[in-house]
Amino acid sequence: MTDPTHPAAPIADATRVVQGGRRDEWTRGIVNPPVWRASTILYDSVADLRTNAKRDTTHRLFYGRRGTPTQWSLADALDELEPGAEGTLLYPSGVAAIATALLAVLSPGDEVLIPDSAYDPTRSLGGGILKRMGISTRFYDPLVGAGIADLIGRATRAVFMESPGSLTFEVQDVPAIVAVAKARGLVTLLDNTWATPLLFPAIARGVDYTILACTKYVVGHSDVMLGSVTAGPGRLEALRTATYQLGQCVSPDDAWLGSRGLRTMKLRLDEQGRSALAIAEWLKTRPEVARVLHPALPDCPGYEVFARDFKGAAGLFSVVLKGDSDAGRAAMIDGLAHFGIGYSWGGYESLVIPVDPQFYRTATRWAADGPMIRLQIGLEDTGDLIADLEAGLKRFAAA
Ligand SMILES: *Cc1c(COP(=O)(O)O)cnc(C)c1O
Repeated sequence: MTDPTHPAAPIADATRVVQGGRRDEWTRGIVNPPVWRASTILYDSVADLRTNAKRDTTHRLFYGRRGTPTQWSLADALDELEPGAEGTLLYPSGVAAIATALLAVLSPGDEVLIPDSAYDPTRSLGGGILKRMGISTRFYDPLVGAGIADLIGRATRAVFMESPGSLTFEVQDVPAIVAVAKARGLVTLLDNTWATPLLFPAIARGVDYTILACTKYVVGHSDVMLGSVTAGPGRLEALRTATYQLGQCVSPDDAWLGSRGLRTMKLRLDEQGRSALAIAEWLKTRPEVARVLHPALPDCPGYEVFARDFKGAAGLFSVVLKGDSDAGRAAMIDGLAHFGIGYSWGGYESLVIPVDPQFYRTATRWAADGPMIRLQIGLEDTGDLIADLEAGLKRFAAA
């Protein structure tokens, strides 16, 4: 491998996901970096041990919690997908990544702004540990854009974003919010799990910390929990300090599976995005469907921002059905042959869950026109999935 951090010419994302993090000193000629397991690292002498304790431990074996080439390789590969990033650290889950990033920037007395469409565990963090530490949370309308300026008070320290939002898929005007935050000296964080850097390179858009639940598209096979935070210029030190103090680390086996997944992420995301859009467009033509909340379709709040800022769509969206039959929704979901019923998404297989976002909101009201479902589109044949949904919609209408 050539050193991917110094490529001869700019390279495309498809090449980066294949080559990222594969340094010769870590792979020793093997295609995939091996699983280096370690807690203890042995030193030659007392002097050697003392010298190492004083050194920067980046990419240097020190103690297992600081990682081995297996974890560094994945972190580096993710970092290379974010032009302009200062560094990327790994976490045992997406929620751990979000919690650590917030704790890295917030102190007692601070306020953080969180969109009303945020992933529910992110909301819980605001009302839970952050509150206990004297940090207040103000939930805001995800479509506020530059209007975020009116919500900033003297205690406001950080603006958290998630775009598109969980369950309801509002696309946030990240560049507008970042511009306001920068002018006011606030830190910005983005949960970029849906788009990944392949569809929305957040650091290049000025975001200070971009967060992935790697559990989803990076791992891609529904069998590992993993998270990452990529820091923008000047932002890595605070994150690293919080990460070390909180003892956050991931196992080499999980990191290895993350790297394994990453190599095919572009291919999976492209195909799942293509199939999901075809299914979303088909659903829009159905009489049982009130709205399709897919960022590339005009029914979705913020779709103009999506068209302006994103390189493409991922494979997760929601559908609002007509009427008010909860039993019909259950009948539809229970009878699906190709969609598993379960949380999470981003794997190779299709999933469905009922969603009820109206119960989570506090800053805005979500007026549900009817029962909602969320679909994660996998790599199955698009026609098979449509036929399955068509039979499901008939069950819904009949109930
Ligand atoms: C799943 C998810 C997370 C949390 O990731 P875990 O790895 O399950 O902890 C965070 N944000 C979003 C948007 C998610 O969908």
